[in-house]
Amino acid sequence: MQTRYARQTVLKEIGEAGQQMIAASTVVVIGLGALGTNSANLLARAGVGTLRLADRDVVDWTNLQRQSLFEEEDAAESLPKAEAAVRHLKRINSAIRYEPITDDINPGNVERIVAGAAVVVDGLDNFHTRALVNQACVKHGIPWVYGACLGTYGNAATFISGTSACLNCLLPDVGKATTPPLSCETVGVLGPVAALVAAWQSAEALKIVVGKKEAVSPHLVHVDLWDNDFSTLPMTRVADCAVCGQRKFELLEHGSRMATASLCGRDAVQVMPPASFSMDFDLLRETLGRIFTVEENPFLLKFRADGHDVVVFHDGRAMIFGMSDPKAALSLYGKYIGG
Ligand SMILES: [Zn+2]
Repeated sequence: MQTRYARQTVLKEIGEAGQQMIAASTVVVIGLGALGTNSANLLARAGVGTLRLADRDVVDWTNLQRQSLFEEEDAAESLPKAEAAVRHLKRINSAIRYEPITDDINPGNVERIVAGAAVVVDGLDNFHTRALVNQACVKHGIPWVYGACLGTYGNAATFISGTSACLNCLLPDVGKATTPPLSCETVGVLGPVAALVAAWQSAEALKIVVGKKEAVSPHLVHVDLWDNDFSTLPMTRVADCAVCGQRKFELLEHGSRMATASLCGRDAVQVMPPASFSMDFDLLRETLGRIFTVEENPFLLKFRADGHDVVVFHDGRAMIFGMSDPKAALSLYGKYIGG
């Protein structure tokens, strides 16, 4: 009888030895949106020994257009994405170990989340958290595969600490939280782009797991499925890069995380961005105005999103009404205001 991995072990690039390495590995997928769910599906089918899956959010109906592991029932139940993903992945491959984490990725937990990983796969939706993941991965010598998509285009790149450039070499100011987010919520995303980028990321992850780092792409890849553009950009390591050159891990050490506070008696959560947060109020107004009715006075603007009234002050502080869960508040803030 052929094993379930027969089509993979017969590949000369993987073989039986590679399959054993895959089975012995831990792969971490951070963010379970379109990229993360597509990657988790491919990696579970490939037989990764331990899949650690982290996301702070719950499944909603707008996810089903592109987030391949989720079904209508998950959205109806508002299941945490990590738990919903594991529920489906267990039916795909019951032999592997799953470690679901429902939490906001922050300086206090990111090193624990990536610990022991052969490779980390990025399914995030913002550069602030990617910068944090970059610092954790460089610090601990863990390779990670960046992926992002928006509209009809996507980008991906593999960062191998000590060998290649890191995210900070390419985008030195990327750790600064910014607003507003050019995100799937405001710009949209074509489902097939996410599937393509995630497939590329998963292939890169498997190369690393089987020890074929020489096969990893040295370039950043860019694809636009509407304009039929496939291109690559060189990635150059910066010798004095603050992160991979000087090994300064400021985001990890100084913890510029979003703070939250529940407002007693008001059924609201206040979200306070760190001092480094850069707020472009005009851009926020314009971006939110594309999808919401925005009211404004000289001190703040107000809009209604996902059933909640939201007030944003000029310094980036926000109050989200009709909720008491800080994680849900951070999720809404990240989607519509910044992060
Ligand atoms: Zn660097």
